Amino acid sequence: MVERSFKLYDSLSRTIKPLETIEPGHLRFYSCGPTVYSYAHIGNFRTFLSADLVCRTAKALGWKVTYVSNITDVGHLTQDDQADAAGEDKMAAALKSKEGESFANVWDLARYYGQKFEEDWRTLNLQEPTVRPRATEHMREQIIAVQNLIEQGHAYETPSGVYFNVESFPDYGKLSGNRDRQNLQNAVRDVVQDENKRQQADFALWKKDEKHLMQWFSPWGWGFPGWHIECSVMARMYLGDTIDLHGGGEDLKFPHHECEIAQSECATHKPFANHWMHVTFLQVEGEKMSKSLGNFFTVRDLVNEGHDPLALRYALISVPYGRPLNFTMQTLKDAAGNVGRFREVERRIEAVLGELPTDAPLPEGHSLERVYHEALDAMCEDLNTSVAIAKALEGMKILLRQADLTRDDAVAGAWFLKAINDLLGIVRSDYAGISSEEDGSPLQVEGKTIEEWIEARASAKKNRDFAEADRIRDLLNEKGIELRDTPQGVTWIKR
Ligand SMILES: [Zn+2]
Repeated sequence: MVERSFKLYDSLSRTIKPLETIEPGHLRFYSCGPTVYSYAHIGNFRTFLSADLVCRTAKALGWKVTYVSNITDVGHLTQDDQADAAGEDKMAAALKSKEGESFANVWDLARYYGQKFEEDWRTLNLQEPTVRPRATEHMREQIIAVQNLIEQGHAYETPSGVYFNVESFPDYGKLSGNRDRQNLQNAVRDVVQDENKRQQADFALWKKDEKHLMQWFSPWGWGFPGWHIECSVMARMYLGDTIDLHGGGEDLKFPHHECEIAQSECATHKPFANHWMHVTFLQVEGEKMSKSLGNFFTVRDLVNEGHDPLALRYALISVPYGRPLNFTMQTLKDAAGNVGRFREVERRIEAVLGELPTDAPLPEGHSLERVYHEALDAMCEDLNTSVAIAKALEGMKILLRQADLTRDDAVAGAWFLKAINDLLGIVRSDYAGISSEEDGSPLQVEGKTIEEWIEARASAKKNRDFAEADRIRDLLNEKGIELRDTPQGVTWIKR
C-alpha cells in the first residue's frame, strides 16, 4: 500500500495538517456523543457520520483505531451553550414534556433514547465505537477529577457547587479564540449568576442539588457533575492523557471543548488533544433546521417514510464536513438513485459469479484499483467525501458500461464494492440482520425470526438436507430477505 498522510483541518492550529498519532499506526479518537433526551436528528448525525468516516479512512490506511463516542445522560443543561450552568438539566426537562409522560422516571427516559440512538446509529451504518461510555457510569472518576482540580488550585467550592477557576489556566480560549472571554461574558450578561463565583467565566464542575432527579453523593454533598467534566474524564480513562484527535459538532467548540481542554490540561499538565475536528451544521431546504419551520427530521422520521437508510447516509456525507450541507428531498432522491447503481452492479456480479464474494482479491493493475486509490486519496485530503463518492460512481460506470461482465471484471467489481463500502459505508449495511422495525421486535417470516431460519438452514445443511436448505433460502428470498454466506457466518439483508 502506498504510504499516505491523512490530512485533516485542525481547529486548534487553524490549518490542514497531517493527523499524527502518538503511537504509530494507532489512532486514539474521542468524539462527543449525544445528550439522550430525545431522538437524534439528521444534523446530529452529520457529526457522528464524519467521525465514522475518520475511523473508516484510518482503517483503510491500515491503522488501528480506538474510538470513544460517549453518551451524555446527565449534567447537560438547557442553557449550557449560552451561559455556564444555567437552565434545567435537559434530561429532567424532557421528562416533564409531553413525550416524557410515557416514562416512569428520568433513568427510564435516558435508557430509552440511548437505545433509540444506537438503533439509528446502526440504521445509518456507522461502525460501532470501541467504547461507548455513559456519563452516569463514570461518576466516581468525575468526582475524583474534580477533587484533583481543587487540590491543584484550579477549582474552588461555593455554596452552590464547584467551579473551575479560569484565571488559573492562561491558555483558556486557545481553541475558540475567546481569549478575552468577551463572548462568554456577553452571553451571560442577562442571566442570574452565582454571586459566589470568582469570575464570571468560571464554569461548573459540580452542581450541588438535592432536588435534582439524578444525584450522587460527593465530598460537596449531593449533586451532579457539570457537562464538560464528563468528556475530560472519559477521554482520559479510555484513551490516555493526550489523545490524537478530538471531534464534535461546531457548536461544541465553545464552551464545551474549551472547558474540556482547561480541565484536562490542568489535571495532567500535558496537551489534551493534538488535533481538533469540528463538523459544520447542516441546513434543510436552505434553512436552519427547526421544529417550528417543519423541516426538522430525525433519522427514524425519514426511514419510516420509506427512505432507504443508505441513501440517507449517502446524502448526509455527500458534502465535505467542513462545508455547509443543504439537505433537500432532491438530494435524498438523487442519493437513492446512486445507491441503486451499487445494487445493480451487485446483481450483475452475482449473475456472473453466482454469489457476491466477500473476499475477492485485490485486482492489481485493473482500472478499479486506481479508482479506489483515488477515492482513498480524496478521503485523506480532509475527508473530501464529494470526490470520494464521485470515484465510487466512476467505478460503477466502468462496470455498468459493459453489456456482459467478464469474470475478471466481476471479481474486480466485487473487490471494489467491498473496498468502497469499507471506506464510505454506502453500498450495503454492515448490520444486515438487525431489524429496524418500528416497535423494535425482530422481523419474522412465517412465525420464525430470520436468525431462527438461518439456524434451521445451517442444521439442514449439516444433515445434508440440501433441498430443505435451499427451500429456506428461497422462502426468505421471496419475502425480500437475502442471505449471504460470509467467512464470519451467515448475514442477511432486507431488500
Ligand atoms: Zn463532550
